[in-house]
Amino acid sequence: MRSRYSAFALAKVDYLLQTSAPEPHAIKERAQLEDSCNSTRWLALHILKSTENTVEFSAFYESDTDVQQLHECSTFERRDGRWIYVSGEFLPPLTFARNDPCWCRSGKKFKKCHGA
Ligand SMILES: [Zn+2]
Repeated sequence: MRSRYSAFALAKVDYLLQTSAPEPHAIKERAQLEDSCNSTRWLALHILKSTENTVEFSAFYESDTDVQQLHECSTFERRDGRWIYVSGEFLPPLTFARNDPCWCRSGKKFKKCHGA
């Protein structure tokens, strides 16, 4: 999971495709991935829960001028000795109370940082 996140951050599209389940629309998917990698700056990743084959995470990214959050539970499958991403379920974004530590790990309270 962390390696996929780094791959997004570094726009390593080939790596992402190699670690995803085979898709009939691989070419279209590749173009979409390239687009999203080029227009997105990842800011923080929080792993919330993980099991043998799932990872629930919340990732924050900047797209244009907005900070957005991706809260997802990803499912992986072991094939030929490697973990492959097979599907992801989108979850409602996490919310933060004013006095919670900010998600960006600045050490400041949310209300004094990104919640200001
Ligand atoms: Zn912050």
